[in-house]
Amino acid sequence: PQHGAVLQVHDLHVNYGKVEALHGVSLQVEAGQIVTVIGPNGAGKTTLLSAIQGVLPLRGGHVAYHGESLAAISLEARVGRGMVLVPERRELFSSMNVEDNLTLGAYARYRRGERRFAADLDRVYDRFPRLRERRRQLAGTLSGGEQQMLAIGRALMAKPKLLMLDEPSLGLAPIIVREIFQILESLRAEGVTMLLVEQNARAALQVSNYAYVLETGEVSLQGPAGELAQNEAVAASYLGTR
Ligand code: ATP
Repeated sequence: PQHGAVLQVHDLHVNYGKVEALHGVSLQVEAGQIVTVIGPNGAGKTTLLSAIQGVLPLRGGHVAYHGESLAAISLEARVGRGMVLVPERRELFSSMNVEDNLTLGAYARYRRGERRFAADLDRVYDRFPRLRERRRQLAGTLSGGEQQMLAIGRALMAKPKLLMLDEPSLGLAPIIVREIFQILESLRAEGVTMLLVEQNARAALQVSNYAYVLETGEVSLQGPAGELAQNEAVAASYLGTR
């Protein structure tokens, strides 16, 4: 087992122009865990992941990865160190085929001089046999679930140590959601630490070790995922009726 915090976010403030979207968010992700941020539309979940990854600038606060400040670390260098984001709309290259999309996931490694990715491709295909069958199919013609698998597979090609996923269940049928979350659990078992953002609180809390509730740019509640799932306010607002 691994120990220690992979990610520490302290008092994060992020603005869009003059409007502040995150008002001092702090959170921590321990090695080997799945940590989830749940919360309603517009709470700032996507903003949070974008700021951690370095896509958006911080107006205040700081982010540390394995204890080291990321302030001076470029987006590409973060990917090189294993911080990999699977964005909400998946951002696949729709007119390229499955295999080319996967290969592009190894771009940061290629830039560092690595040239051999065949074994990694094989491992992704073993995990997602449907992608192997469809390796020559254009990404834009895949089903929603297959596109999410491709987005995760592409992230795995970057050899993530901290995998951040923005709404991996978005728009997917329940059976596919279950499949995706099983994959996340198997990745955790292999040592990948994850920070997940989800509106599907029920599915997310089931697989998570720890969770935060983000509301209008602030953390309103946090705790072990099993405890949050039992919390009445969380149940009323985010778990719906059974
Ligand atoms: P959703 O689940 O709907 O994506 P979210 O929790 O991810 O919601 P964000 O997308 O992070 O929320 O948005 C947080 C707030 O920041 C919202 O009020 C949103 O309107 C605003 N916002 C997001 N992106 C921008 C932008 N590019 N310019 C201006 N405001 C933005």
